[in-house]
Amino acid sequence: MTTRKEFITVSAAFAVAPLFAGGRAVKTPLMLDTKRMAIYDGPGIRTTFFVKGCPLRCIWCHNPESISAKPQTARFRHLCRRCAKCTMDEATCPTKALKFYGKPMSIDAIVAKAMEDKAFYDESGGGVTLSGGEPLFFWEWAAELFKALKAKGLHTCLDTSLYAPPAAIEALLPLTDMWLADYKAEDDALHQKYTGVSNRVIKKNLERILATGAKTEVRCLVVPGCTDGDDLEARRRYLSSLGIAKTGIVELEYNDYARSKYLALGLKDTMPPKVAGNHGSMSN
Ligand code: SF4
Repeated sequence: MTTRKEFITVSAAFAVAPLFAGGRAVKTPLMLDTKRMAIYDGPGIRTTFFVKGCPLRCIWCHNPESISAKPQTARFRHLCRRCAKCTMDEATCPTKALKFYGKPMSIDAIVAKAMEDKAFYDESGGGVTLSGGEPLFFWEWAAELFKALKAKGLHTCLDTSLYAPPAAIEALLPLTDMWLADYKAEDDALHQKYTGVSNRVIKKNLERILATGAKTEVRCLVVPGCTDGDDLEARRRYLSSLGIAKTGIVELEYNDYARSKYLALGLKDTMPPKVAGNHGSMSN
C-alpha cells in the first residue's frame, strides 16, 4: 500500500513528467481503481481501469470519489475511533477508516497490469475497459492508452457519458472496439438539472458513433422520480429512432448505496432516494 509520503513524492514526479503527445503535455488522470475479472463492463472477462475526474455533476453519482480529478481522502466515520492525532494516512489508520483516492499509474503500468489476465480474455472474448469518472475528460491520454493496448492485441471498451468534443470521438473511434455509452435523460432541461450539462453534444456524439457502425451498447440509468416515466419512454423512442436494437439498450436500476461515500468525502449528499418521492437534500 502506498503511504501518504510515498504518494506525494510519486505524484510530484508524475505532475512534472506528464505524457506528451505531439510534443505537448496532455491532461493525464490519476487512477481510482482497477477491477480484474469484470463481467459487466463489456464482453467476456475484462480488466476495468477507472480514471478520476468527470465534467458532469450527476446528482445520483454512485462514485462521488470519481468526480474531482484531484486526490482525495475519505474518512468513514462509523469506523473512525477518533485518535488523539489522526494520521490521515490510509496505510497507518488502525481501523481502516481512511480511503485514499487518486493514484498515478503510467500507461506502461496499465498495459502490464492488463496483460496479466490475457489468457482469460483470450478464452472468454474479453479485454480491457476504461471507465471512470469520465475517460474522455482525458481523451488524448485515453487515445495513447488504447494505442498501447491495441499494440498488444487487446480488445478495448470505453465506458463514457459521451460528453466530449468531436475531436475526442474522432481520436477514439479507430481505437475502440466497443462503446458503452450512458444516456441519462432525453429532456435537455432535465439533463441539465440532474447532470449539470446539456445532452446536445452527447446526442451528436452518439449519432456520430452509430453512423460509423461501431459496436455500441447504450446504458440508461432509471432514477425514480427523476428520469423514469415520460423521460424513459422518450429515451426509448429516441434510441430506437437511431436504429439501435433492443439488445443494444440496457436499462439500469438505480441504487443509493453510495450515500456513505458522500459523507466520508465531506461532500453534500445529493443522491435521490431509491424510490420516487421526496428528494431530501437534493439541490434543484
Ligand atoms: S487515524 Fe483512522 S481511526 Fe484514527 S482518527 Fe484518523 S481516521 Fe480515525
